[in-house]
Amino acid sequence: MPAKKYYNNSFIRNNRQANTRRNKVAFFDLPDFDNHEQVVFCSDEETGLKAIIAVHSTKLGAAVGGCRMWDYASDEEALVDVLRLSKGMTYKNAMAGLEMGGGKSVIIGNAKEIKSEALFKAFGNALNGLGGRYYSAEDVNITTGDIAIANTVTDYVTGTEGKSGNPAPFTALGTFLGIKASVKHKLGRDDLEGLKVSIQGLGSVGYYLCEHLHKAGAKLVVTDLNQEALDKVATEFGAEVVGLDEIYDQDVDIYAPCALGATINDNTIDRIKAKIVAGCANNQLAEERHGQALLDRGVLYAPDYVINAGGIINVSFENDYCADKATKKVEEIYDTLLDVFAKADAENKPTGIVADEMAREIIANGGK
Ligand code: NAD
Repeated sequence: MPAKKYYNNSFIRNNRQANTRRNKVAFFDLPDFDNHEQVVFCSDEETGLKAIIAVHSTKLGAAVGGCRMWDYASDEEALVDVLRLSKGMTYKNAMAGLEMGGGKSVIIGNAKEIKSEALFKAFGNALNGLGGRYYSAEDVNITTGDIAIANTVTDYVTGTEGKSGNPAPFTALGTFLGIKASVKHKLGRDDLEGLKVSIQGLGSVGYYLCEHLHKAGAKLVVTDLNQEALDKVATEFGAEVVGLDEIYDQDVDIYAPCALGATINDNTIDRIKAKIVAGCANNQLAEERHGQALLDRGVLYAPDYVINAGGIINVSFENDYCADKATKKVEEIYDTLLDVFAKADAENKPTGIVADEMAREIIANGGK
């Protein structure tokens, strides 16, 4: 039996202590709650672990999704993030044709300050508490090394070194192919030669995406918080570096959000000059209505959870790993996106709405 301390419901405890916060959050009524099967708040006093594990759906199999470490401004922000990400995983796994449900976890805190071996073991013990209903892989600020530590105390992790490993290169490949599908649909071209792409975020996925785009002859405009990452991409791929906020004003053909979510919002949407939005970040639209707003502006949006499924597809081969098989399956993202675009055109609906409908149908049909 895992120690009880991992399952302190800190959310309820904090709410009891702070009436104002209790009044602010009606948990089951949160728009992003969306009938989650299970949400677990985990804390461990000794290591400082504060995590939330969200299992949105196990209808197609055990929930699988990455763990994100982030210094959230509040517990509520972390909760909303994990719920949105978890629901996205349900749809992502369904659309990718995987026999896996959707879930996600977040560890609250600054990765530069709180990471420790003990913390990831505590996280692994928390995973044990779900008894295999949820498997964690890597996401923002979580490395294969972190997952390897958790793996010393739990089997409920995936994307491990020596098996499927780091999902990021496969996410980048899928995103690159998704950009190609978007260009095919919107611009009627099979190549990216000379097209200008703005990439926001040069982390695990963004870097490999830049490499693919550069090899395909695209011109890159990039931004990141991290100067080292900027220098590397500028040197290796001749990318033009712009400021964090300037990225929205670039005169480009394609905007690829590859950092955090909600970058397509009321403040940015009118600044985006690209005809295509296609990147790897999760939850790119601040709200669902921004999908309609992109459609109204004649911008083609590649639904985030469809285009960024490459990593989870690779992870799905974890127990019998074969890179060739994984790559072939990742390549299916190209056709899946073309199907979404064609249906969206036919029905004159935002691509994100159409993808949601297709995903729900797949789930209702037990994965078919
Ligand atoms: P990462 O942490 O390795 O990289 C994120 C990068 O974004 C970092 O370099 C960071 O400095 C930068 N960044 C953060 N805030 C920024 C800002 N405001 N402006 C510009 N840059 C900023 O993360 P990652 O694994 O590359 O994931 C990137 C995105 O893709 C995330 O939204 C993640 O959820 C999503 N995603 C990742 C994978 C994967 O396989 N890693 C799979 C699917 C989706």
